[in-house]
Amino acid sequence: MSLVIVGTVAFDRIETPFGKTDRVIGGAATYIALAASNYLQSSKLISVIGDDFPQETLNEMKSRGIDLEGLQIKAGEKSFFWAGRYHYDMNSRDTLETQLNVLADFKPVVPESYKDCEFLMLGNLDPAVQMAVVDQLPHRPRLVVLDTMNFWMDIALDKLKEVLKKVDVLTINDEEARQLSQEHSLVKAARKIMAMGPRYLIIKKGEHGALLFHENSAFFAPALPLEEVIDPTGAGDTFAGGFIGYLASTQNLSFDNMKRAIVVGSAMASFTCEKFGPERLLELTKPEIDARVQQFVELVDFDIELVG
Ligand code: AMP
Repeated sequence: MSLVIVGTVAFDRIETPFGKTDRVIGGAATYIALAASNYLQSSKLISVIGDDFPQETLNEMKSRGIDLEGLQIKAGEKSFFWAGRYHYDMNSRDTLETQLNVLADFKPVVPESYKDCEFLMLGNLDPAVQMAVVDQLPHRPRLVVLDTMNFWMDIALDKLKEVLKKVDVLTINDEEARQLSQEHSLVKAARKIMAMGPRYLIIKKGEHGALLFHENSAFFAPALPLEEVIDPTGAGDTFAGGFIGYLASTQNLSFDNMKRAIVVGSAMASFTCEKFGPERLLELTKPEIDARVQQFVELVDFDIELVG
């Protein structure tokens, strides 16, 4: 197996009704790679940062088997920066600031050693960059998963639709599914979006779980009711990292295994919400993850006898 991850490696500033941070480590690819590293001994990152990004975090990534050959470091430039504020329900947020910085003219270069990848995770990023990575691969990977957000639907919809034709699985939230399909019903939205390219669609609904659609089948995984949600930033990316990390480690792309991967992704995402930034992800142990997956199994396990 080999997994290539594309996405932002960034700084974030986060405000919630219960607290706020100064600049913390963020970025879609950061969360994806950290989450996947719990299931895979190695993965390969493609991204760009400025020389303001801490070496300590890069060392931490390397120690988790994350290959940084495809990470460009631009001297004298600043890393991508995003600031957001969560509403009281912690399910929705406003973007306060997006500074593209190094991302503004990022030209990804896929290293030779990445080119035979079997699994490709196109994390939330400019669809033109996602496309440039796909175009550099000599063979189509076994599975291509793409995550995106309303920001790119607003400013780069045509390019996004082009890259969607090349992916197997799309992960977006419910609001974005409605925006992309122009349908309110998520079932109708799923049908329209799958006609755009992806054979599988995952609709993330924050604290209300996630839906998986494929052909005429649907599966629902709840989110774990958490006693305290400190910061949901990166939950979607952590979900994607857990999902693809599990699929790559099991090498099984059946619908049933995708269901398991969704539960793994949801379990991983629940940890991310427990502390600001990727802090909780960095301290996780495998027994803790396994115990949490088991909690999901118990959450939806019931017996019923139909009467009458
Ligand atoms: P999530 O909460 O999973 O949707 O992802 C949050 C992460 O996405 C943050 O760490 C940000 O750095 C990153 N992010 C925010 N806006 C963008 C954007 N327009 N493009 C790429 N990454 C972004």
